[in-house]
Amino acid sequence: MRKYEIIAPCHFGLEAVLKREIIDLGYDILSVEDGRITFYGDEEAVCRANVSLRSAERILIKIGSFKATTYDELFEGTKELPWESYIPKDGKFWVAKAASVKSKLFSPSDIQSIMKKAMVERLKGIYHMSWFQEDGESFPIRVFLMKDEVTVGLDTTGESLHKRGYRKLTAKAPIAENLAASLIMLTPWNRERILVDPFCGSGTFPIEAAMMAANMAPGMNRSFTAENWDHIVEKKNWYDCIDEANDMVDLSVETDIQGYDIDPEMVYIARENAKLAGVERLIHFQQRPLEQLSHPKKYGFIITNPPYGERLEEKENLPALYRMIGERYKALDAWSMYLITAYENAEADMGLKATKNRKIYNGMMKTYYYQFMGPKPPKRG
Ligand code: SAH
Repeated sequence: MRKYEIIAPCHFGLEAVLKREIIDLGYDILSVEDGRITFYGDEEAVCRANVSLRSAERILIKIGSFKATTYDELFEGTKELPWESYIPKDGKFWVAKAASVKSKLFSPSDIQSIMKKAMVERLKGIYHMSWFQEDGESFPIRVFLMKDEVTVGLDTTGESLHKRGYRKLTAKAPIAENLAASLIMLTPWNRERILVDPFCGSGTFPIEAAMMAANMAPGMNRSFTAENWDHIVEKKNWYDCIDEANDMVDLSVETDIQGYDIDPEMVYIARENAKLAGVERLIHFQQRPLEQLSHPKKYGFIITNPPYGERLEEKENLPALYRMIGERYKALDAWSMYLITAYENAEADMGLKATKNRKIYNGMMKTYYYQFMGPKPPKRG
């Protein structure tokens, strides 16, 4: 079994959620940095991380790291790395993304082209070739520079992990699937509790919650770049991992998960997406405006992403809308509410003070995750 240092990037501010998931999968954490976790694992870990982690953005195999403050050092450091262990003679390789924080070298396009040249230089010498056809499998490289420390990873994922494959139809401003999953995992919600998303849009929160309830791995129905890298991850590992994921699915579970939206088109889209995900039986979607939100039971959870004024005409309606959110929430008995929004005046308009408030970057956009914790249900029997 080959052993690797595995790097998993995630949303800034949600490292703790990903760390917990990796520990739960049974792997040892090596480091936690802003927006990424590094852990130790074998070939099987590469597969299981891709297939099972709900909050990760992608899974990289660490090739190495070194210090570089000049492009010469970047070139030499890159050339020193054992590329031939990963990239075969016909491999297609390139630096797909370069990110730089607090470092002398910061131009992504320069970093990308210099590293590619250095990789070519190394492989020319090793393979005794002067030209690479690059018509074989893809080997995308990602690089992070942090205080001049260059960390180089080989991307095993391809299309980012938030693309589970179920969201063929989307809303106007859909939340990323891995972000939605992380936000649910930050709450004490579990499949025995009620979950309502009154602004469900394309259904992301209810679908992610239903997948968790059914123990359905998020990456079961998609493919990954590393599936064809037999020399790095043997095929058998992927088959075993998908078998393991299939065995764990339990669609017979009883759930109380609801998604509402004012827009009938959204409700249609949410249902179609839930069907694609295979969890439509676990969710009740219905067209319903927020104004009609009510629930007879106690101790439920609202987990939602209300409009936050992406468009101007919407902005004018926000104070009234958030007042209504506050009103409807207060009318529920012993519920908890978790709400992600970029709208700065949310608490004031709702007339509610959050128990906790967490800053989360959704791409470049600063958002807040307001948490209103209701009482716990009494312990049963
Ligand atoms: N999280 C969703 C996106 C939510 S966008 C996703 O991942 O797709 C906000 C949603 O709120 C939109 O779909 C919009 O139709 C809905 N909406 C706006 N005003 C509403 C109201 N008063 N009642 C219910 N839904 C409303």
